[in-house]
Amino acid sequence: MMSAHPVDHAGTPAVHSNASEALLARARAVIPGGVNSPVRAFGSVGGTPRFMVRGTGPWIWDADGERYVDLVCSWGPMILGHGHPDVLGAVTAAAAAGFSFGMPTEREVLLAEEIVGRVGPVQQVRLVNSGTEATMSAIRLARGFTGRSLIVKFAGCYHGHVDALLAAAGSGVATFGLPDSPGVPPSAAGETIVLPYNDLAAVEAVFAERGDQIAALITEASPGNMGVVPPAPGFTQGLRQITQAHGALLISDEVMTGFRCSPSGWLGLEGVPASGAPDLFTFGKVMGGGFPAAAFGGRADVMAMLAPEGPVYQAGTLSGNPVAAAAGLATLRACTDEVYQRLDEVSGTLAGVVTESFTRHGIPHRIQWAGSMFSVFFREGEVTDYATARDQDAERFGRFFHAMLRRGVHLPPSCFETWFVSAAHDDEAVEHTARAIEQAAAQIA
Ligand SMILES: *Cc1c(COP(=O)(O)O)cnc(C)c1O
Repeated sequence: MMSAHPVDHAGTPAVHSNASEALLARARAVIPGGVNSPVRAFGSVGGTPRFMVRGTGPWIWDADGERYVDLVCSWGPMILGHGHPDVLGAVTAAAAAGFSFGMPTEREVLLAEEIVGRVGPVQQVRLVNSGTEATMSAIRLARGFTGRSLIVKFAGCYHGHVDALLAAAGSGVATFGLPDSPGVPPSAAGETIVLPYNDLAAVEAVFAERGDQIAALITEASPGNMGVVPPAPGFTQGLRQITQAHGALLISDEVMTGFRCSPSGWLGLEGVPASGAPDLFTFGKVMGGGFPAAAFGGRADVMAMLAPEGPVYQAGTLSGNPVAAAAGLATLRACTDEVYQRLDEVSGTLAGVVTESFTRHGIPHRIQWAGSMFSVFFREGEVTDYATARDQDAERFGRFFHAMLRRGVHLPPSCFETWFVSAAHDDEAVEHTARAIEQAAAQIA
């Protein structure tokens, strides 16, 4: 599945990455693959990942001093751009007052109140350190609450690297074409049922057969880890009806979409289904403001099962860390209506340039949206599930990625990822990116 290094085309400015290459060589000696999260390794696009040195607003600089417009935005968290003054101020003040106490602080209450205030069906939350921890804990809670073991998930949905949720996952697992991961015991994988996304009939069939053993169905609120593949009209509502009819919980994973698609995430765009809200939600990325903070929450009667109130154990030495909570709180508070408007403008402009340039050069493409989140599939026709998402020209994406990189635009290094913009993407950054798209499209035509 891994493509060879894309061919460099004559006439494009060469970008030397000597410092990144040297750092990667050193990193490889002491870190597997030289990276601490697989998709950073450029595995599917080839070439050397750039080691980053600093960022400000929409721009990031690598170890060789090259400047890029950042369309990764740390995979979502940097919704305000790099070094936003409010967040920097909050982090600095929090750090000066103490890094960690392992005891409750007011900021945790404020952050929890902010989340509960934005997402109606969420009555209580517990703070954790990563999206993976959030989904892992939500699943344990669902199992504890229902007294059942089976979990239903969708192919191409990524919920972090939780054993039970790695089956047919998107994101890095999709990028590398990995099978279900070694190290996940058959006993864990055997408790997970994987279904095609947007296929309500498949969900109905599985629940008809094993509904009384299913603890929860977990889904990305609007999938973004196989590229952006929103739920078909009525799909979320159908999931709610089916799970409810069988006494299973519905877990909406808003780690990526939460506080990005709208002030209250995907839920704010789609609305609460007429059949009822999901029971549990998971959050991460934006709510940490670039620091390790995430959360899971939902119905108070379900959350009451958690220790110390209830018997389901869940804990964390650094959970609710003062600096991370300060960053998350400052980020959410700075996410005004103007911020969401700017995200829409920037993503709308960039997607428009892609459509125009790719059409002019006859490059098959399809753009899909979830709020301001969008991704460009290198294929024609609607993408509704993992099978259609995989049926695209990944090799051509690799050439496009490097053509963009050479022109100072850092895209996510995989055709299965969302392009993330920030409110700090000003006209200069947008115009720079637009020119790069036009030239890169001509190059890969
Ligand atoms: C990123 C992501 C996760 C995992 O979060 P980490 O902080 O990387 O562990 C879980 N679910 C979704 C939908 C994500 O996009």
